[in-house]
Amino acid sequence: MKEQIREVNRVEMTFDNNPENERIGRVMASAFAAALNPTMEELSDFKTAVSEAVTNAIIHAYPAGRGDILMIFERERDIVRVHIQDWGVGIADIRQSMEPLYTTWKSGERSGMGFTFMEAFTDRVEVKSEPGKGTTVSLTKKMGGVQWNRPVN
Ligand code: ATP
Ligand code: MG
Repeated sequence: MKEQIREVNRVEMTFDNNPENERIGRVMASAFAAALNPTMEELSDFKTAVSEAVTNAIIHAYPAGRGDILMIFERERDIVRVHIQDWGVGIADIRQSMEPLYTTWKSGERSGMGFTFMEAFTDRVEVKSEPGKGTTVSLTKKMGGVQWNRPVN
């Protein structure tokens, strides 16, 4: 029998800016969206977008050391939204940072395509950031083939 799915859901978690936690972000994204029966492509796109935002918080937010990253997943019917928040260095020029190929990473192994992928793989990307205070990236994506014209609990 198909799982009865509620109209809204919410999950939040806080983790260290440890590179090994990038996979926690991916797994959480996948598990949270799974109730909607998304296609493989929708799921993979969502995971990729979340992974880019989490990786950014891990590698850019706290150059000086340890820091918290908060991830909040919310769902309203078939619209999934995730907020990835840090209290790190922040972004001075948000518009410039979102341009393809723009990166502040000096050593060359970053391509500056993270925000571009987030925009390509979700329906909406919102960035709030203040230098010295931190950054919140919110990703919104509609997914799944759930029918809502039936009673839900
Ligand atoms: P890539 O994602 O391709 O490996 P990148 O991370 O540099 O490279 P983007 O993900 O597009 O590229 O991010 C662009 C820039 O925005 C980063 O180089 C960084 O300066 C800034 N940035 C992004 N997220 C954060 C964050 N959470 N805190 C501080 N700066 C950030
Ligand atoms: Mg990036």
